[in-house]
Amino acid sequence: MINQEFDVIIVGGGLVGRVSAIAFAQRGLQVAIIEANPPSLQLQTDYDTRSIALSYGSVQILDKLDLWQLIAKKVTEIHQVHISDQGQFGFTRIHGKDYQLPALGYVIEMPHLIKILVASQQQSENITLLAPVTFESMERIDGKWQITIKHDDVEKKLSCSLTIAADGVKSSIRNMLGIDVSHHDYQKKAIVSNVGLSRCHDGIAYERFTRTGPVALLPIADDRYALIWTVEQSEELLSLSDDDFLKKLQKHFGYRAGRFVRVGKRLSYPLTSIRSKQQTSPGVILMGNAAHNLAPFAAQGFNLSLRDVATLMEQFDKHYHSGEINPCFFDHYEKARKTDQRVTFYFTHSLATVFNPRFIPTRFLRNVAMVSLDRLLFMKRLLAWQAMGL
Ligand SMILES: Cc1cc2nc3c(=O)[nH]c(=O)nc-3n(C[C@H](O)[C@H](O)[C@H](O)COP(=O)(O)OP(=O)(O)OC[C@H]3O[C@@H](n4cnc5c(N)ncnc54)[C@H](O)[C@@H]3O)c2cc1C
Repeated sequence: MINQEFDVIIVGGGLVGRVSAIAFAQRGLQVAIIEANPPSLQLQTDYDTRSIALSYGSVQILDKLDLWQLIAKKVTEIHQVHISDQGQFGFTRIHGKDYQLPALGYVIEMPHLIKILVASQQQSENITLLAPVTFESMERIDGKWQITIKHDDVEKKLSCSLTIAADGVKSSIRNMLGIDVSHHDYQKKAIVSNVGLSRCHDGIAYERFTRTGPVALLPIADDRYALIWTVEQSEELLSLSDDDFLKKLQKHFGYRAGRFVRVGKRLSYPLTSIRSKQQTSPGVILMGNAAHNLAPFAAQGFNLSLRDVATLMEQFDKHYHSGEINPCFFDHYEKARKTDQRVTFYFTHSLATVFNPRFIPTRFLRNVAMVSLDRLLFMKRLLAWQAMGL
């Protein structure tokens, strides 16, 4: 027996699930979000302390979803990106003003972003949040998906025409559909924290290529920086006192950004990437980390997913008529996203591999490239376009 029917069921209430729900709800569809975590946990300020850099392209998408005016109040603008290579003489800068843009990008702390998405979703009469509830299984019956969910050992059955799998890297839906992934393990970790410096950041972001991999500093509120530090081993660095950690970071990063004086809670993430070999199945679309999970040092994952959402909506508007989805919607969506996803994946992957210090021939080329980058306007534009998500 079916307990409730929806047009769209979104499994996973992370960033991508929430944004997708808002996009479908704006079209008047009845949407359910199934999320395993209780809402109170996701709203805790220390639940997820990472910061998200939003590209200029993402701002345009968020604006169409009526989210940007809320997000804009909480962001820090990136006016300049400073790119350098540890122990080498070259460096380059990308300026927003060179591209006639108010900013190259914008950084928001995750607790603010989640709060805004939750509030927008709560204001929509078309979205039902089912949480804490787990997705258990799905079955295709008469062209619809029947989804079984569970809460406190009680099962319920929901039905929908379209299922969005936004259930993260270990997506149960992807596994259930038998969709394979390609997986790359960089054999490294990212230490993520917020750090304070002895001077104002003036909207400058840093990407520094070091012997252990890229280190990114993104400017955030109160003249702090969001740090993503690629390391080979994270345990020792996580266990150090704040002072000792800051000393190690200073030695590793140098003084380009100033003197590190404060550090917040430190977390470590394994650096891996996955790409789902297929992103659609009849009545199902994989989105966000379930479709592709990129290493975080290039700040591309959510931006790429927002572009996925924008195309999903474009294709949906073309293929949804009188309550029916034309079956070619799925194929058209997947084809439309192939190139951008591939380019973004290789862009991120190349930051880890071209700059790999163990790969000696690239050290020389890298230096030449860095020094001449300021003059090679075309190259720089390509880099900037990718970073800006245009
Ligand atoms: C340190 C770090 C920094 C980053 N910085 C940036 C950045 O600057 N810019 C950028 O664009 N991207 C960045 N990213 C990437 C960005 O965070 C991700 O792209 C984004 O969070 C993916 O969201 P998601 O909703 O797809 O997945 P998730 O956040 O993994 O959400 C999946 C959700 O599904 C739920 N779920 C899973 N299984 C079930 C189930 N069976 N039943 C019910 N619910 C379930 C989970 O509880 C979870 O809430 C960063 C990532 C990291 C790790």
